[in-house]
Amino acid sequence: MSPVPLSPAELRALVRTVPDFPEPGIQFRDITTLIGHPRGLASSMHHLADMARLAQAQKIAGMEARGFIFGAAVAVQLGIGFVPVRKPGKLPIDTIGVEYALEYGTDRLEMDPGGVADGERIAIVDDLIATGGTALATVELLRKAGAIVDQALFVIDLPDLNGANRLREAGVEVRTLIEFEGE
Ligand code: AMP
Repeated sequence: MSPVPLSPAELRALVRTVPDFPEPGIQFRDITTLIGHPRGLASSMHHLADMARLAQAQKIAGMEARGFIFGAAVAVQLGIGFVPVRKPGKLPIDTIGVEYALEYGTDRLEMDPGGVADGERIAIVDDLIATGGTALATVELLRKAGAIVDQALFVIDLPDLNGANRLREAGVEVRTLIEFEGE
């Protein structure tokens, strides 16, 4: 029998905070220490999979790179497929993509247009939501591919940056395991 999963409070204590990375003023919430713990990834997966089950997800989409770790684990747990949302130029086929604004400049996300069927219900999984820019671009991309996207799951929320509310305004319900104040 698998052990009782760690609680969200226990998972929170496994996240390493690195001040002033990648730039001054940012408190980087590093999940390396969480997934390095023998039960950290399995317990995160357990809680996220419960949420994805409730959302009746037919597939999981995860964003490169840390979304792959948690998203793929949840997909395995539920016995459903995984859609990788990639950084530009990584996929060896014709892709669909969306551009989105960063603080300085723009970035782009791409996926295989055949990765979802029309009307398929996809839940997004990532390690952390900050401003919500990455997740909103992912919602737009998956919807462009024909998916229904009304659920997004994150290990960590930074509520001061308001990303979860931006997603809710786009019709996406947001569930998170743990929160940290600040940026
Ligand atoms: P955003 O698009 O602003 O919601 O940023 C989300 C992405 O940036 C997530 O996939 C995180 O991996 C990363 N990120 C943003 N802020 C932080 C932070 N303070 N600590 C760790 N990762 C962060």
